[in-house]
Amino acid sequence: MKIFRSLGVTLIAGALLTGCTNYVGAADSKLISVKDLTQEKLLTVQDRTLPAVKLTTKDSLQAEMNTLRSRLVISQGLSSHKQVAFTFDDGPDTHFTNQVLDILKKEKVSATFFVCGNNVEAHPDVVKRIDQEGHSVGNHSWNHPDLSKKDQATVNQQISKTNDAIQDAIGKKPTLFRPPYGARKGGIVDGEAQKLNMKVILWSVDTLDWNHKSKDQIMEAYHREFKPGGIVLQHSAGNEGLKETVKALPEMIRDLKSKGYEFVTVDKLIGVPAYQ
Ligand SMILES: [Zn+2]
Repeated sequence: MKIFRSLGVTLIAGALLTGCTNYVGAADSKLISVKDLTQEKLLTVQDRTLPAVKLTTKDSLQAEMNTLRSRLVISQGLSSHKQVAFTFDDGPDTHFTNQVLDILKKEKVSATFFVCGNNVEAHPDVVKRIDQEGHSVGNHSWNHPDLSKKDQATVNQQISKTNDAIQDAIGKKPTLFRPPYGARKGGIVDGEAQKLNMKVILWSVDTLDWNHKSKDQIMEAYHREFKPGGIVLQHSAGNEGLKETVKALPEMIRDLKSKGYEFVTVDKLIGVPAYQ
């Protein structure tokens, strides 16, 4: 009975007990029928003063998820979910990618790796490891050009050729595409991704780890920018500065675990299949 604290909720409880079918309270200006307030649907009741009684139902969560899933370009999950999606770009290599995978394995954490086709071709065994250890593989172009400066045919080739390389390595074609630098001016990149049945995945937290940041600077960026449903951009190949990514990763995981976050792949965060 702890949830029946506020006056508004007491009214609802009273109405339920007497079998009354009047409309009570208001959530975001929408009247709620008492008969809809079954225990099954009543997930959370925020303790506010009248007249606003904020209700979050399974139906409204489902509606939010449907809206998110319908978008072509996504930079974060639902802010009502205590979930985080780690993403690692530019790999695979045989050095940092394996170190990142070792940490994720030890911590039992899932992530998404946006890989470049030329690196997939060079290190197919590392892509297999990513897949076998429960992470998702996304497409990050063939060789990391700024696609906003390329014509339609080149953009299509960069994405398609990488999909083929990923399929050769793990037998599956991805649905998630992240343009290098997030560059997608003019609609060509988004259009080609859509034609290839893919979602364009950006991020909500940029650790700037590719730019020789220290572990402390990476952690500062994370603390400054992270919100529930966040997609965190990190890298698993590129330059020696990524040793700081490897140092920051366990600390970031510990912080999120202590706050009760669930670590999910991007496909799970947005409710779409990872592969087509
Ligand atoms: Zn990149």
